[in-house]
Amino acid sequence: MSPESDAAAAAVAAVENVADRIETEREHLTDLDSAIGDADHGGNMARGWQAAAEAVTDLDSPTVEAVVKTAGKTLLSEVGGASGPLYGGSLVFASAELSDGLTAESAVAFAETYLEKVQDRGDAKVGDKTMVDALVPAVHTFKKSVETDDLPPLDALAKAVAAAEHGVAFTVPIRAAKGRASYLGWRSVGHQDPGATSTLYIMEELLATAADHLDQVVPSVDATSPTIPDGEATEE
Ligand code: ADP
Ligand code: MG
Repeated sequence: MSPESDAAAAAVAAVENVADRIETEREHLTDLDSAIGDADHGGNMARGWQAAAEAVTDLDSPTVEAVVKTAGKTLLSEVGGASGPLYGGSLVFASAELSDGLTAESAVAFAETYLEKVQDRGDAKVGDKTMVDALVPAVHTFKKSVETDDLPPLDALAKAVAAAEHGVAFTVPIRAAKGRASYLGWRSVGHQDPGATSTLYIMEELLATAADHLDQVVPSVDATSPTIPDGEATEE
């Protein structure tokens, strides 16, 4: 297999793994959304990703860009609510960053464009208790890990997942300012955001698929120790 078709096969596997994981977590996502929303996030996402997995499997000679675009289009047409256009539309838009194939650099561009589109569409910022709370730290950590710290892509992705995990935990104590949960005002405090949670699951599956594909183990990241900014490291 050529490197391009290899990467495309990994992208198809990633969509299948996300679909399986979301199906496994369907009830949990529904429970989270019933606490501060309308209890449809698990069903919405499971239906959408299942259809996306079928659609990408049906592609003839897929490319990474085509896989991501097809998954996004399918989510757009299958998933209602706030999350359909946010997930689906942003994937379709950001897939163009992968037109020359998958590299660490194109993956960073993809992640940045995806986040930009989510924020364009949803107008949410960090602290509004949405998927943006998982995405912003994840994308910034990924970019810094690749571009500044020169980490191997898999290590960079593992750090991004750890950052997303922190972002999900951060949604618990804060008050929702966007989406359905914002109607609850202070009563949204103490609940974890469903969209941030599904974003984390998706990222965890991307990491697992990438590790699998590269025949490496998932790097363990000490998520509790903050990164020492460049130039400030002290010698012991
Ligand atoms: P709906 O709220 O329409 O029922 P879902 O339940 O599928 O849609 O998705 C809810 C999730 O969508 C929330 O948990 C939140 O993460 C995300 N979300 C809602 N509004 C926004 C927004 N404006 N920007 C970013 N994410 C949002
Ligand atoms: Mg909902």
